[in-house]
Amino acid sequence: MTEKLVIIGSGPAGLTAAIYGCRADLDPLVFMGTKYGGQLMLTSEVENFPGFPDPVLGPDLISKMKSQAERLGARLMQEDVVKVNFKAYPFEVHTDSGVTKALSVILATGANPRRLNLKSEMRLMGKGVSNCAVCDGFFFRGKRVAVVGGGDTAMEEATFLAKFATTVQVIHRRGELRASAALRKEAFANPKISFIWHSAVTDVLGTAKVEGARIKNIKTGKEADLPVDGLFVAIGYDPNTEIFRGQVELDPKGYVAVRNGTESSVPGVFVAGDVHDFRYRQAITAAADGCKALLDAEKFVKQKLEAEIPN
Ligand code: NAP
Repeated sequence: MTEKLVIIGSGPAGLTAAIYGCRADLDPLVFMGTKYGGQLMLTSEVENFPGFPDPVLGPDLISKMKSQAERLGARLMQEDVVKVNFKAYPFEVHTDSGVTKALSVILATGANPRRLNLKSEMRLMGKGVSNCAVCDGFFFRGKRVAVVGGGDTAMEEATFLAKFATTVQVIHRRGELRASAALRKEAFANPKISFIWHSAVTDVLGTAKVEGARIKNIKTGKEADLPVDGLFVAIGYDPNTEIFRGQVELDPKGYVAVRNGTESSVPGVFVAGDVHDFRYRQAITAAADGCKALLDAEKFVKQKLEAEIPN
């Protein structure tokens, strides 16, 4: 049997595509991954997703999207895709339990924020440690925060956080920023933002919530404790595209290259969410992308099916 549509990924992009896919009669099969839900599963309160006047926990938001997709008839499999073959048609999607053939595929596997790889960072994630200033900055009104990183994301996060926080200290491992001139200039000009150079975070302090960061000067080896209420880790993202390498075109940063809306380099394979979008990276923009990818997939499948029906 050949599926009309397979969706790979189960964050807001994949689940929105599934919801729309059911309503378009595409009977979507979703490979959610064994660790389903994406970045929202590591987020505490979400206050900026329309339709929720009260804050909703990230995992609850995913659970509601899942229930909505299931109620409409989506088949959600908690399985990892291990390989794809987009050179064959129908396309092949491989999991440990077998091979699925599909007329169209939506790639919605997201991206993972890079971590400092500290135990305390994971323990306090959502309790003062964050990867998203737009999502969580509002909770730090009148508080002290630190941002780790020296790239565009770190400068954007620092400038955004300065609207709410009393102080924003940027901790960077080198003595110069990687960020573009415009973002650097904006951060340097902001009186709330200061820089701690040549330094690495070696521990996040606090039990129930963040109370500080232990930082080490890489040049001198000296350690000091910095009292802060929030730590924003902004050291880049890794798109989940390993299984697509050699199958669709990736951009130089490893994200899936997109053209003409949501099309990948392979006709019939569409793209949604952070797996291609390193710019906006919001749950709502990923969801919107899922909708767009589905509308494109629907048109593609309709044409394929019509071509198969003899006049
Ligand atoms: P990035 O450019 O890769 O920068 C990551 C930063 O984090 C670098 O300063 C790096 O230090 C530091 N870093 C990496 N690993 C670290 C570690 N383990 N510990 C401590 N520091 C670490 O990532 P990004 O800032 O997320 O940007 C990604 C891409 O998106 C870039 O191409 C960027 O231009 C683009 N972007 C554009 C915009 C915009 O145009 N408005 C906004 C955001 C992102 P080093 O400098 O020492 O390597």
